[in-house]
Amino acid sequence: MIRYCRICRSQDLREIINLGNMHYTGKFKHQEEVVPQALLKLLVCENCGLTQLSNNFSLDKISCTVNFSSIIFLPILWAISMES
Ligand SMILES: [Zn+2]
Repeated sequence: MIRYCRICRSQDLREIINLGNMHYTGKFKHQEEVVPQALLKLLVCENCGLTQLSNNFSLDKISCTVNFSSIIFLPILWAISMES
């Protein structure tokens, strides 16, 4: 868990949401698959107001099947199709 604000380094952090331990995943797991968990808690810095996660997450454990190019290009294609 972080002890300092990521922006101003203040130690004046207040918990605002605690969802407990949550699985590292963005998809449905197979029945036999073991998915690691991590604490998902939001803190707000009373000094600068930044809302931030209390823990750092390991990016290699996160399952992400989102194709980020589709997030950028699909709205553009939709806008082009609406004009024609
Ligand atoms: Zn701060």
